[in-house]
Amino acid sequence: MLPAQEAEALILEAVQALDVQQDVELVELEACHDRILASPVTSRLDFPHWDNSAMDGYAVRFEDVKSCSADQPAVLEVIEEIPAGYQPQKSVQPGQAARILTGSVMPTGADTIVIQEHTQRQAETVLVLEPPSEPQAFVRHQGAFHKSGEPLLSAGIVLKAPEIAVLAAAQCVQVPVFRRVRVAILSTGDELVSPEQPLQPGQIVDSNQYALAALVAELGAEPLTMGIVQDDPDRLNGAIASAIQSADIILSSGGVSVGDYDYVDRILAELGAEIHIRSVAIKPGKPLTFATFPNTLYFGLPGNPVSALVTFWRFVQPAILKRSGLARDWKPRFIKAITTQDLRSDGKRESYLWGNVEIFDGAYRFTPAGGSSSSGNLINLAGTNALGVVAIASSNSEASAQTHVQAGDTIQMLLTYGK
Ligand code: AMP
Ligand code: MG
Repeated sequence: MLPAQEAEALILEAVQALDVQQDVELVELEACHDRILASPVTSRLDFPHWDNSAMDGYAVRFEDVKSCSADQPAVLEVIEEIPAGYQPQKSVQPGQAARILTGSVMPTGADTIVIQEHTQRQAETVLVLEPPSEPQAFVRHQGAFHKSGEPLLSAGIVLKAPEIAVLAAAQCVQVPVFRRVRVAILSTGDELVSPEQPLQPGQIVDSNQYALAALVAELGAEPLTMGIVQDDPDRLNGAIASAIQSADIILSSGGVSVGDYDYVDRILAELGAEIHIRSVAIKPGKPLTFATFPNTLYFGLPGNPVSALVTFWRFVQPAILKRSGLARDWKPRFIKAITTQDLRSDGKRESYLWGNVEIFDGAYRFTPAGGSSSSGNLINLAGTNALGVVAIASSNSEASAQTHVQAGDTIQMLLTYGK
């Protein structure tokens, strides 16, 4: 049994990000939300595009107003109005000013903005009652935020609202993003039926297929659902062989224990996979197979529905995110939280207890779901958003006893929602 940390390192080491040449597609700006940028975006434009005013007021020459006061106002002729979207037609000469609004283009000749509050308008004349603090006051200079030709956005970032605003402003209407990672999902087991089939005694509904498809889609990857495969070596061989053709990552659930009908590892070996992991020291989730084909990663998850989800969150989620081309933040997201209840584990395997993390008084607080941490209890997994981690006991003598975390103690938490 491999410790969880070692399994994580081994898996993530084996994951290659999508290729910046081959695995790129162009999508419309409207459709790029939550996709991952595949190449840096540069703009032909400076930001701001031209010198403009940061305030409503008057564009003036600093020399004309630097020593004015309420008693001795500067008296300037107003030569033009410059509303938004208007190109100034006149140049401001000594003794002149132009009325200007926030964001409007600075007229030539002027170098400073006097804010409206420091002026008094009289027909075609404006009185400036207070001098600006410095030359160039309230002028936003062309290129001050960004110079044309320099990268605006770097590759590997997720495109959310702020990045989409930048893309739109840069007139990038065709956005280069990584294609979606294709994840094949198959459920193994003679006892499984799909949800719409009538249930016979001894049968179990295949819930993993649907849960895993939802988790895969949540990460921005494409689930390829392959249905239920019987506990039959030939069928399993056929299903995996066909998944290799179309998927970057294959997820199977079930059939990785040491039962008489658990064929996954044998078939993987037959198909030429390199098997790296057969079990990991976590609870729930001990039977976990990780194998690699030349272009495909294989995760054989435990069939137990809770174990399947826990091993997905702990090991598969970061692998999918890394493969997707994310430059950062693909590692599992552990945070610290205070537990509201006592937590126990058997001390021998790192235990993952599902529950809810919430912000209380500015700190994270964890409440485990239900009383039972039975790995069979799928029902109380609903509504949870995190896994509380109870570490392995630190010494061998302790390892025979339970690990016990008391209410009020700080524990590690794994956040389980998507990217
Ligand atoms: P296995 O890992 O194949 O030994 O399965 C362990 C347990 O999980 C058994 O009780 C199975 O019936 C159950 N199980 C296996 N696959 C699924 C699935 N796709 N959906 C729901 N339960 C499953
Ligand atoms: Mg089975």
